[in-house]
Amino acid sequence: MNRPPNDDGSDKERKDSDESAIENIAPDTRIVTAGRNPEWTGPVVNTPVWRASTHLYDNCAELADGVKRGGDAEFFYGRRGSPTQWSLADAITQMETPKTSGAYGTLLFPSGVAAINIALLSVLKPGDILLMSDNCYDPSRGFANGLLKNMGIETRFFDPLIGGAIEGLFCKNTKAILMESPGSLTFEITDIPAICAVAKKHNITTLLDNTWATSYFYPALEKGVDISIIAATKYIVGHSDVMMGSVTTHERYWKRLRRTARQLGQVVSPDDAYLAARGLRTMGVRLKAHEQSALKIAHWLDKRDDVEKVLHPALPSCPGHEIWKRDYEGSSGLFSFIIKGDKKRAAAIVDSLQLYGIGFSWGGFESLALLIHPEQNRSATSWDQTGGVIRLQIGLEDCGDLIADLEQAMDKYKD
Ligand SMILES: *Cc1c(COP(=O)(O)O)cnc(C)c1O
Repeated sequence: MNRPPNDDGSDKERKDSDESAIENIAPDTRIVTAGRNPEWTGPVVNTPVWRASTHLYDNCAELADGVKRGGDAEFFYGRRGSPTQWSLADAITQMETPKTSGAYGTLLFPSGVAAINIALLSVLKPGDILLMSDNCYDPSRGFANGLLKNMGIETRFFDPLIGGAIEGLFCKNTKAILMESPGSLTFEITDIPAICAVAKKHNITTLLDNTWATSYFYPALEKGVDISIIAATKYIVGHSDVMMGSVTTHERYWKRLRRTARQLGQVVSPDDAYLAARGLRTMGVRLKAHEQSALKIAHWLDKRDDVEKVLHPALPSCPGHEIWKRDYEGSSGLFSFIIKGDKKRAAAIVDSLQLYGIGFSWGGFESLALLIHPEQNRSATSWDQTGGVIRLQIGLEDCGDLIADLEQAMDKYKD
């Protein structure tokens, strides 16, 4: 695979696991083998937890050498990680199929928000304009309207369904585009290849929050995205017990991303990296189980006459569904639906669910339900639906039980 160069330009000592000798391995095989370099794992299956701040050198000259190289995946100091973190980062890079996409490396961050915001900081400077999809995650909007604004970086929001017509919004200072597809509240699917194609023509950097699909269902770099971001907190970790984010990119962006992350002191703990790597190994089977149950439940809801609309990318009622069909390898377990009736009815339904927890986040093994307020999070488009909106994270419980629970709650609070 491609190896990001060290600070001194050499590629010596970079200890990535090489891609399998078998060409074109499927994602399910990759998920099992990726990042398991024997130099990191030793004789055991998983890369052990290397807990360390100090890394010791044999002598002064070796330490000086290490400082000069400043490479990735090389012992130096705890802030640059250990084999536990390198192995996970390498596995995530490999999930983006470096041979065909040119994925060059992955950096890990202590949350998805840190990953998104530092990726943005690495490509923007005062005076630049950022275009952000109107369905982006609320904290991404908060960063744009907060720190970025204070730094003299302007953000303009755009309709997630704009496609190649985004070119009409470009001006001299437009430097980057942040997309989230599907939006994690309202699930519009963006025509990412069309946007990336026009952005490339104008030398504008494209970033995607790929948390919903992950590279398993949507290898983002292959689709033309420059910087692929995942809130690993969700499906990679998969067990609702660790916060983490990842950013994967090409050689072109690698050095500035690494520089920004290092200057801001970003590091994840080896214990967290271990748990995330353990989660990743089963992400394929989990995603397929989430997908199956979520689809069943979405279709069940779609047939109910007290449901206004189901916002699930695999259903034709979801804006951008045709693009999902064209581009995505599958759908995951998070979607929303609009009920007939107001927010009070929606809240009463959520409150009387027995098997769904009420709380933020998603991607874990357990089901969650959330009353959401899309009208509060947009400026370029309007939300004209009057019904209450419920977002469901479908977990790994028995699907029949999850449907029965929804049915009892919805029947209890009929219009
Ligand atoms: C949760 C989430 C994030 C942020 O991840 P954290 O690890 O919670 O900081 C970013 N984007 C999307 C779409 C998310 O759902």
